[in-house]
Amino acid sequence: MSKLLRYTIVLFALCQSAFAMTIPVHPVAKNGILDLRSAPFTNKIELNGEWLFYWRQLLAPGDKPAANPKLVNFPSLWNKWDKLNGEELPAYGYATYKLTILLPKSHGELRLSVPDVYSAYLLYVNNEPAAKNGKVSTTAENFAAHWQYKTFDIAKTTDTLRLVLQIANFVHSKGGITKPLYIGDKEVVRLDRQRDEAIDLLLTGCLIMGGLFFFGLYLFGNRDKAILLFSIYVIVYSYRIIGIDNYVLHTILPDLDWRITVRLEYITLFAGIGLFGLYSRYLYPVDVHKIVVNAISGICFLFAGAVLIFPPYYFTQLINPFLVLMIFCLVYIPYVYLLAYRRGRPGSIYSLSSSISLMIVFAISLFHYWGFIPQLQVVSFLGYVSFFFLQSLVLSHRVSFALKSAQNQAEQGLKVKTEFLSTMSHEIRTPLNSVVGMSHLLLKNNPRHDQREQLDVIIFSANNLLAIVNDILDYNKIEAGKISFEHIEMDVVAIARNVVNSLQVSAEDKGITLKLVTDEKVKSKVLSDPIRMSQVITNLVHNAIKFTPSGFVEVSIDVLEQSDSTIKLKVAVKDTGIGISKDKQALIFERFTQADSSTSRGFGGTGLGLAISKRILELQNSTLQVISEEGKGSVFYFIQTFDKAGESLPEKEFKNQLPKQGKPFAGIDILLVEDNPLNVIVAQTFLKRWGAAIDVAVNGQEALARLDLSKHKLILMDLHMPVMDGYQAARIMREKGIAIPIIALTANLPDEVRQDIAAAGIDDIVVKPFLPDELYSKVWHHIFK
Ligand code: ADP
Repeated sequence: MSKLLRYTIVLFALCQSAFAMTIPVHPVAKNGILDLRSAPFTNKIELNGEWLFYWRQLLAPGDKPAANPKLVNFPSLWNKWDKLNGEELPAYGYATYKLTILLPKSHGELRLSVPDVYSAYLLYVNNEPAAKNGKVSTTAENFAAHWQYKTFDIAKTTDTLRLVLQIANFVHSKGGITKPLYIGDKEVVRLDRQRDEAIDLLLTGCLIMGGLFFFGLYLFGNRDKAILLFSIYVIVYSYRIIGIDNYVLHTILPDLDWRITVRLEYITLFAGIGLFGLYSRYLYPVDVHKIVVNAISGICFLFAGAVLIFPPYYFTQLINPFLVLMIFCLVYIPYVYLLAYRRGRPGSIYSLSSSISLMIVFAISLFHYWGFIPQLQVVSFLGYVSFFFLQSLVLSHRVSFALKSAQNQAEQGLKVKTEFLSTMSHEIRTPLNSVVGMSHLLLKNNPRHDQREQLDVIIFSANNLLAIVNDILDYNKIEAGKISFEHIEMDVVAIARNVVNSLQVSAEDKGITLKLVTDEKVKSKVLSDPIRMSQVITNLVHNAIKFTPSGFVEVSIDVLEQSDSTIKLKVAVKDTGIGISKDKQALIFERFTQADSSTSRGFGGTGLGLAISKRILELQNSTLQVISEEGKGSVFYFIQTFDKAGESLPEKEFKNQLPKQGKPFAGIDILLVEDNPLNVIVAQTFLKRWGAAIDVAVNGQEALARLDLSKHKLILMDLHMPVMDGYQAARIMREKGIAIPIIALTANLPDEVRQDIAAAGIDDIVVKPFLPDELYSKVWHHIFK
């Protein structure tokens, strides 16, 4: 609130100082004579005071008046005077005002400015017509109204100015003049007007651009009605800056018909407030009283409608009841904003501050309208600018708030999707574990030839299913930005060799040659993520085999550049397969896209492999590229620069020391913690085959109870179990100082659980569905290391 207070004080201070500056002390006319012989013309001087007044006479200079003049206070509305000769003057009528101004014998160049009057005038200066607005006449038929600022110079030699001002009105509910005429140094008057025009034009430009901006935001954004109403309000209100008071628009377009401009002036006032009411309603729908706001806006639009239908004489009189409504709004709208602020609505501090600016602007225009203060254009300008600026902040805040919540929702949605997919994959992997495990077991039980073939099909299909689940999970993770890369020592050639070896069988099955060609210059190991590298090369080779009916697939690794610390490699997978047409080459890197929709039917696949590989490489500053010709084959390649690893140690291949046959785990007790009976059977069967003795616990709590350190050498621990999960069980064991090796059996991807596993003190992971070899080597490693 203190910010608000300071803001208000500053505005008031500005208001006061500007007010003081704009009220010059100057001579006043007496008996129709204004003596300016000793006046300085460095400031504009108002030609106010007692003027001679001839009612119902349009006197040209030299004309004999039909009656004696009255002395009236100038400027003022004749229909607001108490009485003239005992009669109250109507708004409609015509009259002549006269003033003689005495100037110094010699003076600089002077200029006189004439404002608009109600509603037409003709001014003579020293017998010559000097300025006019519309057409004065004694009858309504010959009369034409017009409002426009006029100014003219006064010859240096003139020491007396005889002003004869004819005013006529047959259209407005006011008659006479309310704004003063000014005289002053030519430059002062000119600059003064220029400043007024500049301020009005500047503000109008700002408002129109701001309004159009918000209109665009509404059209192309979230279709928020508050934004639409604000944009219309701003554009409508911009007319009031340029089309009233100084009538800058009329200076630019002097031929604009008065009947149109006067209507625009009133419509923009009435409709403007109505629009602002509606805008506030949509801005803070819960905080406004709907009936009140609807009533305010309704009356405003009704008034605006009346302007279109009725003649100016009638609709100009609506201003008084409208002022009452406006004063009510001046209290009610800030009250709504205060409520919104108290209730913590987003951006409401700005609405509240803006309503203070608006109150100041309206107060100034009201007091100015009542003639208590001058126009105070600079203060009004500042007030308007801060009002619109603060309201823009309210809306910007609103838009960004909406965007943020949409973003949160999207993030939430993504989270839910990721969780769903990871649960799904977990659920799919668990039964797959039994399928794969049991099939492997059956294979080892000397099946008949035809049974072996059927088992191969089962294992092949299960592995395919697993690959699809893994791909979806992987892509999901990449999309969610959850992928991280290791920066560890790896041997690119060894990785490529492993991939080639593992896919050799499928290549042979198709009758194609799969070979690896490596550059001899690749000597040292590099630092990168071996798992991801293997994933990318596997994907490419797998595709190459899949899409090559005959011929060969060649994996090549070439050194493009190398220094002491870095090496730039080109890894390419070339095939003599079906190739990809030019127009499809960019598409295949998109997710779920295949070059030909018949592909998935003919060759299988989800269309995710290349998208994943591409993203993995991009995240490591490399790009996956393709050169391909339909019917001839394709080359998929990427170029990546790696940091070289230091002097590399010979790889610890404990696998080589593994006994391949027999019962290496004879006499060893393993505690298997697993709640799924099928998984228990699978793991138990393998471990028993290798000679181990198995105790089974169905959850973490039971594991804690059954663990016998004098007997058990290793724990195989499922992670998700009822009562107590694997993490907690492991954590409790480690807290008790139990150092037995624990291997997690999980259906999650290793990346997903790696951190939690490490935190729980678990030593290793075997991912379900496990390959017997992997389980075997990991158990062996942890028992005999
Ligand atoms: P999937 O292989 O699961 O369909 P990918 O993202 O790995 O998904 O590949 C997308 C598409 O790119 C494939 O469906 C295929 O049309 C095309 N494609 C990929 N590799 C090759 C290749 N070596 N030869 C021909 N077409 C290929």
